Amino acid sequence: MTQLQMRQQRWSAKFVVLLARSVISRMAVPSSSSSSWISGGSPVSGFTCSFVGFSRNWLNPLPTKLAKNVETQVRSLPSVQRSQVLRLKAASSSLGSAQEHKNYNLKDVGEIDGGQDLFVEMKQRFLNFKKQKYIKESEYFQTIAEAQYPKFMVIACADSRVCPSNVLGFQPGEAFMIRNVANLVPPLENGPSETNAALEFAVNTLEVENILVIGHSSCGGIQALMSMQDDADSKSFLHKWVVNAKAAKLRAEADAAHYSFDQQCRHCEKDSVNRSLMNLLTYPWIEDRFRKELLCIHGGYYDFLNCTFEKWTLDLKGSSIEEGGAFSVKDQAFWC
Ligand SMILES: [Zn+2]
Repeated sequence: MTQLQMRQQRWSAKFVVLLARSVISRMAVPSSSSSSWISGGSPVSGFTCSFVGFSRNWLNPLPTKLAKNVETQVRSLPSVQRSQVLRLKAASSSLGSAQEHKNYNLKDVGEIDGGQDLFVEMKQRFLNFKKQKYIKESEYFQTIAEAQYPKFMVIACADSRVCPSNVLGFQPGEAFMIRNVANLVPPLENGPSETNAALEFAVNTLEVENILVIGHSSCGGIQALMSMQDDADSKSFLHKWVVNAKAAKLRAEADAAHYSFDQQCRHCEKDSVNRSLMNLLTYPWIEDRFRKELLCIHGGYYDFLNCTFEKWTLDLKGSSIEEGGAFSVKDQAFWC
C-alpha cells in the first residue's frame, strides 16, 4: 500500500469519526457546549471558526428571514433531499438560543439593503447559490461543514479578474486559497507573512497534496515591480511587497532587454511564478513533503486577454533548492 493510499484510508477513518461526533453532539449537546465542539473539536473546522470570529448563529444555514422561503423550497424537494435539508435545519437550530440576541436581524438588513443596487444583486446571487447549489447538494455541504479536506492550496493574485474558483471551477471545500498582489511566495528568510501562514496551515494541518501558484496577464503588481527604481527607498506597502520578486525582475530585464516594457512584464509574470515555486522549497516542511512525493508543486499562467491557461509541474528529479539552484518542470499543458 502506498503512502497516499494509507493517507486516504486515514482520512476515511477521520470522516467516520467526525460524522459520528457530529451526530452525537446534535443528539446530546443542546446549546452552549456545542460551541466548544465547533471551535475545538477539530483543528480544521476550529481554524475556520476562530478565524471568522462570528457568533455561532452566523453559521446557521437557515436564518429566520429566509426560513419561510426555504421551507417552501424544501416542500418541493424529493423526499430524500427534503430529509437532508430538514436534518440541516434541525442541526442549525440546536446551536442554541443563548446568543440569538447577538445576531444581526436579517429582516432589517434585507430592508436596509433594498435600496442599494449592489447588495440587491448580491443578495439575489446568494439566494440563487442557496437554492441552486446549497440545498440541492445539502449532503455535501453538510459534510464539508464538519471539516475541510481540500486537495489544493492555491496562491493567486488579488486582481479582480483572476478568480480561480470561477476560472478553474474550484468548488467549496476543494481549494484552500490565498490571494495576494502578484501571487508571490516570499522565501523563508523574509519572515512571516499571511502567505506563509496560510501555507503552513494548508501543508502541515490540512495536508494538501498540491500547491498551485497562478500568475496572470497584465498583472499590476508585476508592472509596479518592473517600474521600480533599483535604489528606490519606497514607503509604499505595494513596493515593499512586490520586491519579493526582485530576482524575477532582474531576470526579465536581462533576458528580454531588447523587448518592450510590456513584453518584459509578460516575461516577469511567468518567471516570478517559477521563483515562487522555488521559494516554496525554502520551507523545510514543504521541501520534506515534496521530496517524499506527498506534495506536488505546480505553476500556472492565466492569460485573460486570450483566455488561455498554461500549467506545469515542478520536477523533483531536476530541481535543487540551493541559491540560484536549477529546476526543471514536467507535465506541461496549454489549455486554449
Ligand atoms: Zn496580478
